[in-house]
Amino acid sequence: MSHRESSHTVVVTGSDQVTARDPNARCDTCGVQGTIALFEHDKPPRQVERYCDNCWPARRDALEAAGIYGGWEVLSWRFVEEFVEIVEEGIADNRARGKNTPEQEAALPAQLHQMATEILQGATEYDGPMPSRVAHFIERHRSATA
Ligand SMILES: [Zn+2]
Repeated sequence: MSHRESSHTVVVTGSDQVTARDPNARCDTCGVQGTIALFEHDKPPRQVERYCDNCWPARRDALEAAGIYGGWEVLSWRFVEEFVEIVEEGIADNRARGKNTPEQEAALPAQLHQMATEILQGATEYDGPMPSRVAHFIERHRSATA
């Protein structure tokens, strides 16, 4: 499967000063000003794509479907909230089906603690106030000991 490069794709040369959330950058899909997501292709040359809150989910799905890999960063509470939801539902689902091994169960508190810590560390970089679901997640897991 081939991937046609977007004409808006930014080819970054050397600078690492690119962040997902940039009120001045334009979305690669719709052109709106203000991005929250960044996707950096794995393969050279270094290419960085940026998207707004609305366009990122579709782009993420398209990249996944096309098997295009890279690193991504999303600085939007909406997606943190979605992530927390997926994690919590995944855990509940695995428990309900008895799919977790004792080792996996034992490793969970530390993993959740790590996630909570990472979200908290990046909190000031996200847009707007922290959603309550995310706040509860952090509250529940930040004190867990590894
Ligand atoms: Zn957009």
